[in-house]
Amino acid sequence: MLKLADLIDAHAARLARLESLAMGQPLSLATAVVGQTASYFRYYAGFADKIPGQVFPDDHGAEDGGGGVYKIVQCSPLGVCAGIASWNFSFLYVGWKIAPAIAAGNTFVFKASEKSPLGILALGELIVQAGFPPGVVNFVSGGAITGHLLASHMKIAKVAFTGSVATGRKVQVAAAKSNLKKVSLELGGKSAALVFDDADLDTALTANSQAFLLNSGQVCAALSRVLVQESIASAFIDGLKARFQALSNTLGDPLDAQTFLGPVAERAQFERVMSFLDEGKKTNLDFAVGGDRSSRHERGFFVEPTLVVDPPVTSRLYTEEIFGPVLVVKTFRTEEEAIALANDTAYGLAAAVYTTNISRALHVSKRLEAGAVGVNMVFQPTPQLPFGGVKQSGYGREAGEEGIREYLETKSITIR
Ligand code: NAD
Repeated sequence: MLKLADLIDAHAARLARLESLAMGQPLSLATAVVGQTASYFRYYAGFADKIPGQVFPDDHGAEDGGGGVYKIVQCSPLGVCAGIASWNFSFLYVGWKIAPAIAAGNTFVFKASEKSPLGILALGELIVQAGFPPGVVNFVSGGAITGHLLASHMKIAKVAFTGSVATGRKVQVAAAKSNLKKVSLELGGKSAALVFDDADLDTALTANSQAFLLNSGQVCAALSRVLVQESIASAFIDGLKARFQALSNTLGDPLDAQTFLGPVAERAQFERVMSFLDEGKKTNLDFAVGGDRSSRHERGFFVEPTLVVDPPVTSRLYTEEIFGPVLVVKTFRTEEEAIALANDTAYGLAAAVYTTNISRALHVSKRLEAGAVGVNMVFQPTPQLPFGGVKQSGYGREAGEEGIREYLETKSITIR
């Protein structure tokens, strides 16, 4: 695993280019993501020989003849595991799924999205070079049918899925109808960032513009709803407008190393994003910035960074995951109202709190229904921290110690 991590780093430029060619991720971002993949292999390589079981002392006394029962809990791998991934950060999902699974002693079959298969297939060569025995790590290509075959396979013990809620449901059903394999689901979100009037404005503005627009908003944990306290709303919204306008100038060729914002991944995704924008225009929502495809690009699926102010809480733009560069902003008066608005969604992947009051940061974080919260920052997945959602953002955790537990079964043994 350590050798593989070194090989991934050594080939990062080529792997990132292949990813960028397939789904338009800016090269600079794709390179950073490939580097993160290597870090997950390093982290879990260290775990491989540190998976302890448990032993409990004999608690039977003279009343059962003095022959006490010694108790052991052993951890064992599950067997063959599978991963089905979305296209937005394919390499990250390799790190989240394959690294813990093989460190726990399982074998793995990984299916990248049919929209981003190239970089992952090139990774196959590095798996061979690193010296993994044949069959330990396998990559298969394909779309829904291949994914369904994995989810319903009778000899696969677990499937770790990353993708949309609709497909996640199908995977769970296929698992239930076949061999009742274990399932973990990393699904979508409509996560909220809460900006209180005591926040550092510059930090909040950068996070809710530049950090939000990373990968053109095609991020499962994207904080696509910003809730700002009424007393600072006007200054905050003006600041966001200026930053969104400036960032629209960074739309460009994803293969250019200087590009910050690329196109959305493909035609279907582009049409989906545009359908939200068209509906917003028909219902006269307030588009403070953007709302169209980029006029500066004749070719390619470039969508302008878009800021929508105060849409109704029932509008699709406010309630549904768009998975594009579209941010909605609403105001609140009190902390209670902010928490209620943030939690008023079927999802629960991430959240962020911007405040300089640490006790507020802690108690608001506690009440937000989300698997991950960033305080004065966008939550950043890292190898040590379990990542996953609550509510309809899915279940199960990837990364951290919890991430490896997902690939282990316990067996209890008693000895007289
Ligand atoms: P998707 O659900 O369309 O596809 C995901 C994967 O499932 C692909 O590999 C696809 O081939 C496969 N698939 C399609 N139909 C299948 C079926 N019937 N059975 C088994 N597999 C099947 O999602 P997408 O468009 O690739 O990705 C976008 C979605 O993923 C967004 O909703 C986003 O929020 C979510 N996402 C979540 C996370 C997370 O960690 N929570 C991360 C990234 C993306």
